[in-house]
Order: sequence, then C-alpha cells, then structure tokens
Amino acid sequence: MKISCPHMGHLHYMLEDLFERLDVEYVKPPVSTTKTLTIGAKHSPEFACLPLKINVGNFIEALDMGADTLIMAGGHGPCRFGYYGIVEERILRDLGYEFDFIMLEPFNDGKRDFYKTFKRLSPGLTIPRLYKILKASFAKGRAFDYVHKRSLQVRAYEVNRGDTTRALRQAEQLMALAYTPEEIEEAGREALALIDAVEQDPDRDVMKVAIVGEFFLLLEPFSNFGLEEILGHMGVYLERTVWVTDWIAPNRENKVYGFPKNFVEEKAEPYLSHNVGGEGRETIGGIVLMAERGFDGALQLLPFGCMPENIATSIIPKVQRDHDIPVLTLAFDEQTGRAGLVTRVEAFMDLLAARRGSRLALAGAAAATDKI
Ligand code: SF4
Repeated sequence: MKISCPHMGHLHYMLEDLFERLDVEYVKPPVSTTKTLTIGAKHSPEFACLPLKINVGNFIEALDMGADTLIMAGGHGPCRFGYYGIVEERILRDLGYEFDFIMLEPFNDGKRDFYKTFKRLSPGLTIPRLYKILKASFAKGRAFDYVHKRSLQVRAYEVNRGDTTRALRQAEQLMALAYTPEEIEEAGREALALIDAVEQDPDRDVMKVAIVGEFFLLLEPFSNFGLEEILGHMGVYLERTVWVTDWIAPNRENKVYGFPKNFVEEKAEPYLSHNVGGEGRETIGGIVLMAERGFDGALQLLPFGCMPENIATSIIPKVQRDHDIPVLTLAFDEQTGRAGLVTRVEAFMDLLAARRGSRLALAGAAAATDKI
C-alpha cells in the first residue's frame, strides 16, 4: 500500500510519523504550487471551494508519483466539507485513476468506525496499539503547532529579516527526527529555544493583528501566499485562531489557540448563536476575543464562495462597530494574485498605524488634561 493525503500546512510531518508507525508507505505529494492548483482547478467544478481544487491537485500529483491509496478527512454539514471526499473521489475516477479511497470520519462520529479505518491500513492493529500510535503522532503535531505559533510572534521583533523563518526550518527538521515520546518532548523544547534565540528588538512598537477565518486558508501557506511571513516581515505580531492539532483533536480544548471552543462560541453568541459550519462562529468569536485583548485589527481569510465565512462576513461590520476593531476580509480563489493581496494588506496596516497614532495622541491629550 502506498498512501497519500492532501497537504495542509505542516500536517505532513504528523502524517509521515503516523504512517511510519503504522508501517504504511507514505507518498508525500509535492509541495503545493501554482501547477498543483492549475491541475486541480482544471478538473474541479468552477464553484467548488479553493481548498477542494488544491486537494484534487495534490491527489493527482500523488497518484502520478505512484500512490495507490488516498485518504481524506470526512465530516458533515452544514457546509460543503462533508462532500469533499465524495466529490474528489468521483473526479479522480472520472479521470481514469485507479486507487483505494478511504474516508476518515471524525472520531466523535463513531469510535468503532474510526478504529476500523485504521485497521484497514494496518491489519492486526489493536485498539491499545492504535491509541499509543495516535498519541505519539499527535504529540509531534502539537510540538509543530507550538513552535509555529511562537514564530508568528518572534518574527515581528526579529532584527535580521528572515532569521525566524530560517530558525523555523531548522526547528522543523529537528522535530521531524524525533520518534519516542521523550524525544518528541525534548525536540519540541529545543525547537522553541531555536526560535527564541533569534535576535530580537524588544523595544519595537509592533502592530498586533489576529488572523481568523476558514481553517484551510489559515493552515496552508500556499493558499494564502505565505501571508503570515509577509505580515511578520512588516513587523506585525500575529495570533491565529485555527491550528492543525486543535482542529483534529476530538475535544474542544483548543490548547494551541489557548481559548476553548465553548469560550469562543460564547463570545460569538450575541451575533451568531448557532453552528453555521466551518469556522463561521469561531471567526466572529475570535474577532470579539482579540478586540477585548487589545489587538489592533483582524484579517479574515476565506475561500471565495465559502458559505460559513460569508455568513461571518455579513456580521462583521456590526462586530467592528461594537468592539472598535478594524477587520479586513480577504477572499481567495485561483484568480487571486499576490501583488493585489500585498497592496491591500499594506493599506490596512497603514490604517491601523494611523488609528494607533491618533489613539496615542488622544491618550496623550487626556494625560495632559489630567495634569492641569
Ligand atoms: S468551510 Fe468554506 S471553504 Fe471550507 S468546505 Fe466549507 S464552504 Fe468550503
């Protein structure tokens, strides 16, 4: 069996680890590029979400490399994600590819089915062994998330442009080699130390911006033109609301993000009190939360036509007014260009800087008045 799965940020490190433990050969698709998207868009329905098109491109590139089994995360409504796997399989079969297709449904939708899916990959696998394997691979995924999260904050203060990105690559290589739980823990610590060792200017007055929105757009840098790096190099301190291991964890703790799902949903409650699929509710709750935490602004990323995020977009103007936080909405599809994106983001940062300037001026005036 030669198995493959679409890219989503640094998920492939976790998959490499998982399939190694399951003794299954993993065919890692080439890193997503314009070629991947062009292939995927060519064979996908025009109105399909951007992530589906990139997934199809990843699958075709993996099949051309010899993969004979494809695995895709399942799900359920109310958005289109629950149909992704079915549509992708149909597209690939219509193109004449032959393969086994496995849908991995969420753990909470049925523990027995979840186990059976893994048993298909590794006959003879027992439940205790599966638990041990998942625990180890998940711990590795968590380490990658924490290190990546730290890099988003350190990059804003780096003295030499690019140092954080270089440290992050080094950290990733280090963590990828870890295997036992002890090695993973140690590698995670060393990787964080590598990021912290980047020379920083702690006195730099950085802008604090939240990145909220649809999970794939937030997790896969190819889909958003490496926006986090672009912003980091502008000296912007970033926090984002979605992380790979938070997203796949069966609990609702959101350990990497730092705020449990229930808590974020409560923040959204006055504006959106029910699940609209994807991260629609988390986007609204995330903006409220970041405003309360004093962030200067937020960026909402979504695939063009994404139903849950479009619902959030329609609510955001009220959230902005109520919480005095500017939000820039950025929709992505295969027509989106990097230059246009950078121009919009730069203009938004200028706006935030101007607001902060006037806020500082107001604070200064208030302090002067107090003294009179
Ligand atoms: S969350 Fe949005 S982009 Fe993702 S599958 Fe649902 S509709 Fe498509």
